[in-house]
Amino acid sequence: MVGLLHQERLIIKIMETERIYFDYNASSLIRREAFNLIENINKSYGNPSSIHEEGRTMRDLIENSRVYIANSLNTNAENVIFTSGGTEAIDIALNQNPGRIIINSTEHIAVFESAKKTNSTIEILEVDENGIVNLDKLESMLQKGPALVCVMFANNETGIIQPIREISDIVKKYKSYLFCDAVQAYGKVKINFDELNIHFMALSAHKVGAFAGSGAIIINEDIKKIIPTMLGGGQEFGLRGGTENLIGITAFGECAKLIDEICAENQKLKEYINILEKNIKSFGGFIFGGNSKRLPNTSLFAFPDIKADTMLMKLDLAGYSVSSGSACSSGKVKKSHVLKAMNVDDKISSNAIRISLGWATRKSHITNLLNFFEDIFKENYIGVKSVR
Ligand code: PLP
Repeated sequence: MVGLLHQERLIIKIMETERIYFDYNASSLIRREAFNLIENINKSYGNPSSIHEEGRTMRDLIENSRVYIANSLNTNAENVIFTSGGTEAIDIALNQNPGRIIINSTEHIAVFESAKKTNSTIEILEVDENGIVNLDKLESMLQKGPALVCVMFANNETGIIQPIREISDIVKKYKSYLFCDAVQAYGKVKINFDELNIHFMALSAHKVGAFAGSGAIIINEDIKKIIPTMLGGGQEFGLRGGTENLIGITAFGECAKLIDEICAENQKLKEYINILEKNIKSFGGFIFGGNSKRLPNTSLFAFPDIKADTMLMKLDLAGYSVSSGSACSSGKVKKSHVLKAMNVDDKISSNAIRISLGWATRKSHITNLLNFFEDIFKENYIGVKSVR
């Protein structure tokens, strides 16, 4: 370390200490149960479509996972179709090409992009300033004719939970279809697929502690005909061709088996989010969707005078992994269409950062983060006093 500037030494010291991960909505840290599986699978091999013993062993692993995922949602295993992730599940749902698609304005970008590829007309369903879809508007839109309605269970940036039960009642009344992106909600709140009257639902394995590159579309058994996007060798009941992602699916199934435990863990995180938000407000920060029902692990907030990219860089250097809710695949901070839909001023929305907690989060991580914010504000001569 001789010859290094004081600041460089400080950065190296920070890098050497344990990092604190606050980005579970982007991707959860892999759960131990998922890792343990790799070793078991490693001892075996074979294509799950082969009729020999090795193939049959692999087939059993996949079919068991299908059952675990179905059980976690209170539905039947035949309704679970494995995909390469949430994005592909969304694409299959939108590919049903119903002629008319109504999209909630705060959906994940994948929904808008998949809808654009279809020949259907696209209409946008607005949200109020609390991020909740306007139910009267939905009803008046459906009075004009049936549609595929796309409303996510919970938003990835704000954590805001939509009233899916009421939405599905309206959709049913007008003999329409409901696609629900539950990628963020699964494992954070309990979902009863069969009771909710959802027609298509998207899930993603890497949000519940399994591996990226695996997910599922859950299809209501009332749907008799599906237009596949990938035919291939007829796998997944002919609805999604291609040799199955064995490790991805099996790890996904293993996490689904634990869904009640995972949900309970997430519910406990609400206490940490409350501590965090109480302090953020005392530092002059603003919580987005603060009046709405939200996921227990998510907080999107902004400080008036610090841009998100500046804050994210400071956090990263200090060892905290945080995102702006609206980071795109290039890692750049984009303007959030979600906050825009909630009528949030551009100036404040460009300061928004998202903390999302998960299974490895400890109370001390929150305390450390709050100390960090306090130091930042001191550095900027904004006199703040912690309420901890
Ligand atoms: N839908 C939501 C709400 C998401 O947050 C994400 C990922 O961030 C996706 C869909 C896409 O899922 P995947 O990464 O598995 O393609």
